[in-house]
Amino acid sequence: MPGPSQGRRAQPFILSGYHGEATRGTVTIREFNREQRMRRAFAGLGKWWGVALISVLVPVAHFVLVPSFLLYGVWQFFQRLGTAELATDARGTCPDCGAEQTLELAPRWRSPQPVTCKQCNRGLRLTVPP
Ligand SMILES: [Zn+2]
Repeated sequence: MPGPSQGRRAQPFILSGYHGEATRGTVTIREFNREQRMRRAFAGLGKWWGVALISVLVPVAHFVLVPSFLLYGVWQFFQRLGTAELATDARGTCPDCGAEQTLELAPRWRSPQPVTCKQCNRGLRLTVPP
């Protein structure tokens, strides 16, 4: 049954640091099928090529800006095309300093992955519990 939460799931994870007990957190994973990936890829390409088109009007700087945005658009296109699982809204508590926070994850979901505590700047490791 397709519901409103289709394509999204809450994924619990474990955060481990150098000291202290490992803590738990959750991240929302958005799943994209082939068609959604294509749509997102073209939307990204269109956006950056649109920016490139506007920057044609910027004097002198357009020699750098236009090709940069065109290339960035292509890069975004392939990034999005390859992103089947997107990590958003990751929340957890740092095992080292105890600060609860939203975590900056790599947009393309993977596990394990390194994360950095915003409070104490220590490198932490995010893993999915077995
Ligand atoms: Zn910390």
